[in-house]
Amino acid sequence: MDDETPTLPIVCETCGTTTRVPLDEAAETVERHNERLHDGQEEATIDPELLDRIHDLAAADMIEEN
Ligand SMILES: [Zn+2]
Repeated sequence: MDDETPTLPIVCETCGTTTRVPLDEAAETVERHNERLHDGQEEATIDPELLDRIHDLAAADMIEEN
């Protein structure tokens, strides 16, 4: 699993596009997309379903550490 770069899907419903980008470029990609194509409006986001899952994982981590 280490040889696989983790990617996140960036979803823009306004453009009707989904783009997978490396994890560490996701925030920047969203920001750049919205600035260039949507005048800084938050149209593109990291896949909300995936974010939910990450939040669940993070919450589980916190419970374990506390
Ligand atoms: Zn867009």
